Amino acid sequence: MTDCPECAARQVQVEMKFDPNTKHFICKKCGLYATREQVSDIKYRLNRRERTREDKHDEYRDWWQSSKKEKQG
Ligand SMILES: [Zn+2]
Repeated sequence: MTDCPECAARQVQVEMKFDPNTKHFICKKCGLYATREQVSDIKYRLNRRERTREDKHDEYRDWWQSSKKEKQG
């Protein structure tokens, strides 16, 4: 059972259909068409993107807190 990583990124759980002839997974919702390797690659990239976004958020918060400290003296 493989969930579509593109739809999972949009908080939608969609089970992909496997085509044994082409050895590709197909998502009926977003139209993603990928091999098992490509699906796990997309999952990996999306996970990394989520983490990067969180890192940026932390950087912003650090910057904001340090700038507040400067203003307070
Ligand atoms: Zn999808």
